[in-house]
Amino acid sequence: LRANFSMIKKESGAVNGLIAVLHDVTEQEQVETERREFVANVSHELRTPLTTMRSYLEALQDGAVNDEALATKFLGVTQTETERMIRLVNDLLQLSKLDAKDYTISPQRTEFMAFFNKIIDRFDMAKKQNIHLVRKLPDARVYVYIDRDKLTQVIDNIISNALKYSPEGGSLTFQVIKQKGFLRISISDQGVGIPKENLGKIFMRFYRVDRARSRKLGGTGLGLAIAKEMIEAQGGQIWAESEWNKGTTIIFTLPLTRGGREL
Ligand code: ADP
Repeated sequence: LRANFSMIKKESGAVNGLIAVLHDVTEQEQVETERREFVANVSHELRTPLTTMRSYLEALQDGAVNDEALATKFLGVTQTETERMIRLVNDLLQLSKLDAKDYTISPQRTEFMAFFNKIIDRFDMAKKQNIHLVRKLPDARVYVYIDRDKLTQVIDNIISNALKYSPEGGSLTFQVIKQKGFLRISISDQGVGIPKENLGKIFMRFYRVDRARSRKLGGTGLGLAIAKEMIEAQGGQIWAESEWNKGTTIIFTLPLTRGGREL
């Protein structure tokens, strides 16, 4: 609600009334503001790699192309920036499909522990960093009804983030707890953490706690926004808990029932 006030004055100048006009800032106006911000963000995110590429290409044209070592380095930079743009555009396309509800969820009855272990195995195998993966998982079969591809993408994103923001030698802990009607899955790291006041915002499009760091680590700022849409589309919720400099836990839930019946 927005309020405008006008004073009613007598000819003598004395105030004898007040008119308050209340404007309802409509939902449409809000949507319009968000759309404008989104377009500004996208433009900015695309301009950054493009201007970087332009300056490296200019340097190549100005002679760097004759220095083989330098040329190789500069071409490497333009390649990295191109890849960043492809990632960004792919994420944007995916979000626009989610917004337009132009997607189908293909849920299948799935034994979650085997499904989850397989994803963790894949990261364990890749072992890019010296980070321990600790599984605190129940030794039981648990069934959920999920779109496996979409959920794999969500979990991949959460684990990649946890690895990106973790120190060498740290550990990632995976936990699954069965709760009333829900499965509660958590992935904890011992990384940089997220300040309390920013916790809710990390699921917003383009929000990053540290823009420069995220950019350096290859982030688009859209991963968790996509994850939130996908988890909610499957009847779950997602949120974060964190302590600055101690670590972050991303938690999400999945329903254990379908149409009121246990799976
Ligand atoms: P990005 O592509 O930048 O990683 P995300 O949507 O995946 O975008 O995450 C949004 C922001 O949330 C990140 O830029 C980062 O600031 C913060 N974040 C996400 N996961 C973690 C984590 N495990 N530890 C610390 N910060 C995190």
